[in-house]
Amino acid sequence: MHHQHQATVTVVRMSAHALTHPFTEAPVGIARIEVVPGVFWLRFALPWSLNHINLWLLEDDEGYAVVDTGLGDPASRGTWTALIEALERPIRRIIVTHYHPDHLGNAEWLAGATGAPVWLAMGEYLLAHALHAQTSGFESSAMLAHFRRHGLDDERLVKMAARGNVYARGVPTLPVHYQRLLDGDVLVIGGRHWQAIAGHGHSPEHISLYCAQAGALISGDMLLPRITTNINVPAAMPDEDSVGRFLASLRRFEPLPADTLVLPAHGLPFRGLHARIGQLFAHHAERDATILEALRNPQSAADLLQTLFLRELDAHQLMFAMSETIAHLNHLWHRGPLRRIEEAGEPVRYQIAK
Ligand SMILES: [Zn+2]
Repeated sequence: MHHQHQATVTVVRMSAHALTHPFTEAPVGIARIEVVPGVFWLRFALPWSLNHINLWLLEDDEGYAVVDTGLGDPASRGTWTALIEALERPIRRIIVTHYHPDHLGNAEWLAGATGAPVWLAMGEYLLAHALHAQTSGFESSAMLAHFRRHGLDDERLVKMAARGNVYARGVPTLPVHYQRLLDGDVLVIGGRHWQAIAGHGHSPEHISLYCAQAGALISGDMLLPRITTNINVPAAMPDEDSVGRFLASLRRFEPLPADTLVLPAHGLPFRGLHARIGQLFAHHAERDATILEALRNPQSAADLLQTLFLRELDAHQLMFAMSETIAHLNHLWHRGPLRRIEEAGEPVRYQIAK
């Protein structure tokens, strides 16, 4: 029996004053706030501990382009119905940053209500369909097997399994055709150029949109002011270095001007993107250090949860926590400091490489 090393847990204190928030009051319901001329901020409710998502309405020629669509639940659809009624121009384009339910949830429904096409990256589109249809390698059971391999016990697996196809509940219907968005594409919206910047590690091909003329970046989930973006390893790519991919993606925002107004999917608009990128690098380095400290003795991802997450996790949070822990273990394994121990009938464990 090995002695469990008592790891000291250090919580990274994010210094918030490096960021400035020009708007401190978020819009409610169908109210809009113009954050840059021709760019409007909307906020829709989410029935989770993360209780909102920001959507963006951009003035387009004779209409609006909308970025992200909210969760596919009756409440969000009610808000959309009222909003379409209230808008003085029609919605002409529906742009979706990535496949997650709070972003893609109403895309197909909204396309039906407005006749507008849906714009999305191919990786996001295909993954949405795979998860919705539960195709091979993307079923809930594949995720459970992935977590079992990483040490999650039956009791917690059963709780997770009881949730069923959570994805299809959040995204009841999906578009069957779309306009493809690719990294580097430039969308001309209302005469302004918005450049697509792909990001990885949170979702396959997350698209953020940057406009030099507006001085604004619609960052989606890639750059958030308070919470750290979830980084995950899908069952279909079990060895993926998602942390490495995420950090490399953040580097792609570094050339943007320091005074860029960042329009995130969650939290308040902010300036200070370079400071935020620095905080995120520090956060992940800190997490790596905590894991290495804990892995003087071999542990599985499930073993590490108590070291990394200081609170009790419900089934929803557990899914994110397991995935993020596996992502960090893969990252350190790819980079050399960890070795992987695989024995028949045992969960995968990791230990500092000698
Ligand atoms: Zn997301």
